[in-house]
Amino acid sequence: MPTCAIDAPLDCALCPRLVAFRQDNQTKYPSFFNAPVPSFGSDNAALLIVGLAPGLKGANQTGRPFTGDYAGDTLFETMLKTGFASGNYCKVVSDTLHLHNVTITNAVRCVPPQNKPTTDEIITCRPFLINQIELMQSKNLRILLSLGKISHDTVLKTFGLKLSAFPFTHKAVHKLPNGLTLVDSYHCSRYNVNTGRLTEKMFLEVFELIKSLA
Ligand code: URA
Repeated sequence: MPTCAIDAPLDCALCPRLVAFRQDNQTKYPSFFNAPVPSFGSDNAALLIVGLAPGLKGANQTGRPFTGDYAGDTLFETMLKTGFASGNYCKVVSDTLHLHNVTITNAVRCVPPQNKPTTDEIITCRPFLINQIELMQSKNLRILLSLGKISHDTVLKTFGLKLSAFPFTHKAVHKLPNGLTLVDSYHCSRYNVNTGRLTEKMFLEVFELIKSLA
């Protein structure tokens, strides 16, 4: 069992395409974080939110999951409304945003071109997610919230579970054999919000549902 969350090193070289993209971005945007984005929150939290991957000019710029990303506006607003966070979210790591019993991480730590990690990249990055989950599981972790199907599938594979036994559906609650509960939500991406696939109300309901489970 790990004793601390071993995140990808800042110069992680495991995925050649993502390394090349990072180097390109280091040249184009030298003031950006431009490295694998570590998890945000305490390892003692009961809830772990798993996103997909950092956005180029959001989490990859600021160095904190969802921070500065369009998806972060929706995520943090909803968490503030439902009591999972407090303070002010100002799209920078130096803001006063504080998470309550929640940690946020990503299935893939590095920003991928076009926001689309490849299957190989998701697999290669999975050990960092496994490490995060195992550490939190040894403490207080009870619930995982997957934002989107890629996150959902990655979490299930992390536990060696069959995807067909736990189909992804918005607001699904899966009781996993290891005692953890997996909750699904559509990802709060700009695309899903703009197309109405995920409304503010639907996303609020997900967090209310989690509160009722806790
Ligand atoms: N930013 C993140 O950090 N993760 C996502 O899944 C989307 C945006």
